[in-house]
Amino acid sequence: MPRSPQRRTRVVATIGPASSDPAVLSAMVAAGMDVARLPLAHGSIDDAVARFRLIRSAAPDVGILADLPGPKIRAAAFPEGGARVNAGDAIELVTAEGKDTASSATRLAVAHEDMVQQLIPGDRVLLGDGLVALQVEDRTGDRVTARVLSGGLLQGRPGVTAPAGRARLVTPTPEDLSRLEVLLSEGVDAVAVSFVRRAADMEAVRAVVGADGPLLMAKIETGEAVDDLDHILAASDAVMVARGDLGVRIPLEDVPHVQKMVIKAAVRFGRPVTTATQMLESMITSPAPTRAEVTDVANAVFDGTSAVMLSGETAIGLHPVAAVATMANIARRAEADFDHSAWGEGLGVQAVAGGQAERITATTTSAAWRASREGAAAIIACTRSGTTARVISRFRPEIPIVAATPSTRTARHLTLSWGVSTVSVPLSDSTDDIVWFAVKAAVEAGFAAAGDVVVVLAGSPTEPDPITDTMRIVSVH
Ligand code: PEP
Repeated sequence: MPRSPQRRTRVVATIGPASSDPAVLSAMVAAGMDVARLPLAHGSIDDAVARFRLIRSAAPDVGILADLPGPKIRAAAFPEGGARVNAGDAIELVTAEGKDTASSATRLAVAHEDMVQQLIPGDRVLLGDGLVALQVEDRTGDRVTARVLSGGLLQGRPGVTAPAGRARLVTPTPEDLSRLEVLLSEGVDAVAVSFVRRAADMEAVRAVVGADGPLLMAKIETGEAVDDLDHILAASDAVMVARGDLGVRIPLEDVPHVQKMVIKAAVRFGRPVTTATQMLESMITSPAPTRAEVTDVANAVFDGTSAVMLSGETAIGLHPVAAVATMANIARRAEADFDHSAWGEGLGVQAVAGGQAERITATTTSAAWRASREGAAAIIACTRSGTTARVISRFRPEIPIVAATPSTRTARHLTLSWGVSTVSVPLSDSTDDIVWFAVKAAVEAGFAAAGDVVVVLAGSPTEPDPITDTMRIVSVH
C-alpha cells in the first residue's frame, strides 16, 4: 500500500527573538515548519549570521529564506512609549536630517532625501501598517502640513508610504547587496527581494548570485509589481504575496483579488508562491486564532498557494510552536477538500520564460501528469536543480510527487514547493541508473510498493542545461 501524501502546502515561519532557541526551533520543525524566514530588516548582519547558523544546526532540513529589507522608507524614531495622534490633529512633515532627528505627535521626520519635497496637497500618507493615515493639506516651500485622518499610537520607526511616484526607490539597495554577499557565503537557500517593481530589479540580484545561486523570490508588494507580474515571474524562481506592504500600497479591498491573481500567474509559470502576513496575527498574543484567520489560511490553500507564512506570530509572538502547529492543521484540513482533478484539468499551457529546454520540461511534466492519472502511485522527478519537481508541482496531483536528487541543497530549495517530498540518490551519468536509483529510493521511503506503477521524469545527464526529456512508466517489482 503506497504511503498517503503528507501535508502538501508548505509552512514558512519567520525566525526572531521568540524562536531563536534550539529547542523552540526543533519543536517548530516537529510542528510542521518547512522553511525558516530570516528577516534582515532589523538588527546587525552579525546577528543575522548567528541566527542563520543556529537555524542550520537546530533544523538542518528546513530551507532558509533570507528576506532583504529593500528601500523601505521609515520615520525617525518616536520617543520611548510612542506618541498618540488623533483624527483631526495637524502634523508637520519634515525630512529627517542625520541620525539625531526624532519624530513626535506634531512632527513626523521622514528618513528619505526627497519624499517630503514631492508631496502635494491631497496626497494620503500611511504610517506603519496603514492604520494611521494622514492627508497632506498644504506645502509652503519645504514645509508640509497634513491632517490626521485616522489616528493611533506611533511607535519605534514606522514605515511611511506615500502615493506611487513621490519617492525614488531603488531595489536592490547597496545595503541589500552587502547583506546578500554575507548570506551567500553562509549558503542561504532562498532570498526574498523586497519592493520589486520590475523584472530588472530581480535581474540585478541574479547578476550577483549567479545562475547556481539561491532561489530568488520576488515579493509582490507594490502596484507596479502587480502591473508587471508576468515579466517579474519570468525573472524570478518564486514569488510572495506580501500582503502587509501590498495592503498600504493598493486599496485594501483589492488585496484578496491580487492574491488570487498572483497565485494563478505563479502556477502558470511553474513557480512556487507563498502567501504572507497577518495569517494568524492574533496568535502573537493569543493561544488560539480567530475564525477569520483560520478561514483566511484555508482559503489560501483553496486558491492553490504553495506555502503559507507566519511573521510576527513566530518571530516575536508568545506561542511560536502553537502557531506553526495551527497553520499546519488548517492547511491539512483544507487539503482534504482540495479538488486535485479539477485543478489539473483547469490548468492552461505553462508560461515559459526561457528557451527550448524549458519548453521541453513543460511538455514532459504535462505528459507525466496525464499518464499518472491512469492509477500511478507516485510521480518521481529525478532532478539535479529541482526544476522538474517545481514544474510538475503546478499540477497539484493527489498522489505524491517525489523529487529524487543527489543534492541536499536542491532538497532544501524544494521545501518551498507544494507537495514535493524528497529522497536522496547517488550521482549517476546514465538515465537508466538515474531512474533505477530514484524508484528504489522512493520505494524505500514508502511512496510506492511492489505491484505499483510509477511515472518517472528524468533528463539526459550529458546535457549541460537542465532538460527533462524522458518519461518512463515503471512497474515496481
Ligand atoms: C509584507 O509586507 O507582507 C512582507 C512579508 O514584508 P515585510 O514583513 O518584510 O514587511
